[in-house]
Amino acid sequence: MSAEGAMGSLPVNGSTAAPIEADAVIIGAGPVGLFAVFELGLLDIKAQLVDILDKPGGQCAELYPEKPIYDIPGLPVVTGQELTDRLMQQIKPFAPTFHLGQRVDALERHGGRFRLLTDTGTVFVTKVVVVAAGGGSFTPKRPPLAGIEAYEGKSVFYAVRRIEDFRGKDVLIVGGGDSALDWVLNLQPVAKRLTLVHRRDEFRGAPHSVEKMRSLVADKKMDLRIGQVSALHGENGVLMGATIRAKEGDVRIDCTRLLPFFGLTMKLGPVANWGLNLNENLIPVDTAKFETSEAGIFAVGDINTYPGKLKLILSGFHEAALMAQAAYHIVFPGKKLLFQYTTSSSSLQRKLGVS
Ligand SMILES: Cc1cc2nc3c(=O)[nH]c(=O)nc-3n(C[C@H](O)[C@H](O)[C@H](O)COP(=O)(O)OP(=O)(O)OC[C@H]3O[C@@H](n4cnc5c(N)ncnc54)[C@H](O)[C@@H]3O)c2cc1C
Repeated sequence: MSAEGAMGSLPVNGSTAAPIEADAVIIGAGPVGLFAVFELGLLDIKAQLVDILDKPGGQCAELYPEKPIYDIPGLPVVTGQELTDRLMQQIKPFAPTFHLGQRVDALERHGGRFRLLTDTGTVFVTKVVVVAAGGGSFTPKRPPLAGIEAYEGKSVFYAVRRIEDFRGKDVLIVGGGDSALDWVLNLQPVAKRLTLVHRRDEFRGAPHSVEKMRSLVADKKMDLRIGQVSALHGENGVLMGATIRAKEGDVRIDCTRLLPFFGLTMKLGPVANWGLNLNENLIPVDTAKFETSEAGIFAVGDINTYPGKLKLILSGFHEAALMAQAAYHIVFPGKKLLFQYTTSSSSLQRKLGVS
């Protein structure tokens, strides 16, 4: 962990926004990060959640939303997405603030607290940090196109942060899953012309999205090309066109924006730079508090390691409960913590909005 105050000199993508003061910032909105909101909330600790994905649920929502999980206590079968939805419902009374589509890049000590910085310039100053980063940050897969790096961030984007940035542009979207189809439907009304390229005439996305896309194509409101992008054309990061390799031969189309949706991989990412002790890309913690080598920074879920660790959702839930008990003493120093059951404590039930 770098010296106190050093972060003031770090670039914040031009943001001059005031820091968000928080009791707890949770890095990662996977199932364990979500349940951590619940356990912290029961102890009056309000959480801010940050995730690089544009939706909560981590691996469950991104990698296997429709697969059934059979080992969540009390839920004999639940899909990845249903579990996420249920967790979102369970934490609703604690109204956590979500900062989605943002990656926490820097984490440093700041007085008696911590300062965090995201890649979009959001700054947090917080008493407690909960690293629930799972297998690391989801990172988009880069298509194998020569010179694509030069266009990234200027003409080539792996996510849409602002629809307005695509207004009046010739947009090329590549992919056949839900992300590609969702952005086809969202950007078609604002783009000058939108083209979807997919390697085959079958789509993995939701059937109603496929249907809507096909009816836009039939109405000549957008183009669909079956093939693969084989080359990009432009200069100094400014895209002018792309070559599509199709059955009928190569076709060059005009485009100034390219959105490739080739899926995501998990990489440890910035967690490695925060000065925390690491053991084979995992964060060692104690099993009483799930605290890292830095007091006040906790690690729960798949990102942590300790003797006997099992990378299971249920283990992460247990870890979140014990972490919250320890975090309480940092957020409310000197205050006594009473152990209470949700079944019988009217104070807990009031917090849950059920009494
Ligand atoms: C196919 C498959 C099937 C599985 N089946 C089961 C099962 O049956 N039962 C079971 O218990 N487990 C199962 N698992 C494992 C389970 O999904 C994980 O244990 C669980 O998702 C871990 O939750 P987590 O919240 O710790 O991390 P994750 O779900 O990995 O979420 C971590 C989140 O942190 C975010 N993040 C990371 N770094 C940053 C950063 N710097 N800034 C912002 N955000 C960041 C990531 O984008 C991610 O969304 C399965 C996993 C897979 C892949």
